[in-house]
Amino acid sequence: MPLMQLMRVSLDVQTSLALFRRIFEYLDLEPAITERPDAVALDPARLRGRVELRGVWFRYPEPRALSGAVDRDRFGDSGVRIEADGDRPTGPGWALQDVSLVVEPGQLAAIVGPSGSGKTTATYLVPRFYDVTEGAVLIDGHDVRDLTLSSLADAVGMVTQEPYLFHGTIRDNIAYARPGATAEEIERAARDANIHDRIMSFPEGYETITGERGYRLSGGEKQRLAIARVLLKDPRILVLDEATSALDTETERLVQEALERATRSRTTIAIAHRLSTIRSADVIFGLQDGRVVERGTHDELLADPTGLYARLYVEQFSRPGGRADDGRRADVPI
Ligand code: ATP
Repeated sequence: MPLMQLMRVSLDVQTSLALFRRIFEYLDLEPAITERPDAVALDPARLRGRVELRGVWFRYPEPRALSGAVDRDRFGDSGVRIEADGDRPTGPGWALQDVSLVVEPGQLAAIVGPSGSGKTTATYLVPRFYDVTEGAVLIDGHDVRDLTLSSLADAVGMVTQEPYLFHGTIRDNIAYARPGATAEEIERAARDANIHDRIMSFPEGYETITGERGYRLSGGEKQRLAIARVLLKDPRILVLDEATSALDTETERLVQEALERATRSRTTIAIAHRLSTIRSADVIFGLQDGRVVERGTHDELLADPTGLYARLYVEQFSRPGGRADDGRRADVPI
């Protein structure tokens, strides 16, 4: 018996070594996005929230380049280079091609376009999830690559379609946006996000365990929790990837109300799927094949029946039965 146990120990050691090798390989990865030694911090008190994409070209890095070789200089060396005007490579591979757009402080900008047109990619460049291949992303005139990562993270908040909840209490999941927030601040954010009453209906209230191994929240509840996070964080710029999934009427109303509070008085860039959002947008950008092909308000864009927006709009609303084939609601045109 002791001998057999000893043999098993050797096996355990071998397995653990292999495991540790993988863990350390992961820990040793160099982040693709790094901060410059002379990076400047955005002053939250003076931040206006003007967002500009200036002549942005972007292609996703090769998967093998992901293990640390994607900083800007090295990425430039991989042959992705644009020579002069008129000599620009186009076609497959480019997720964004020469995208220029400006969202003024406090404006609500809606990005619309067919699947794969580059909407998500464009929004990912604002908080610097990726760096542009060519061109620049600017916040209040500062190139985001010149900013400290923490001040950029403070300036930009995100509400995604599938908010991530970690295993922990609802309170911790909200407070994650601003560690150190008081119980009152967390509750106010939850109230404004229309989720407080729902939280209080759980026997354990804010102490309810959620996330991977805890209580599973519905799609509408998760979205409102994500909105509570953003309200607590209070960023000047909000990136919103509106949910495409159908919600029941009451949940839809609660989510819409919460979103209106979240977008009020801050610059919002929304990948918009709901007509109400698009209608109230100050400016709509129509994307196709990674290019901005249209810009204007709902009425302006509808005036051109051959335009991308008008076509998308008609396509979605002319479907019989009031529901799009992909399960989107009738008031979800794009
Ligand atoms: P959808 O409405 O379906 O979400 P989208 O307009 O948001 O689409 P993006 O997700 O920005 O489009 O995709 C733009 C292009 O970039 C597509 O051709 C897509 O295949 C490609 N792409 C997106 N993510 C990656 C990635 N991580 N790696 C490589 N290519 C990607």
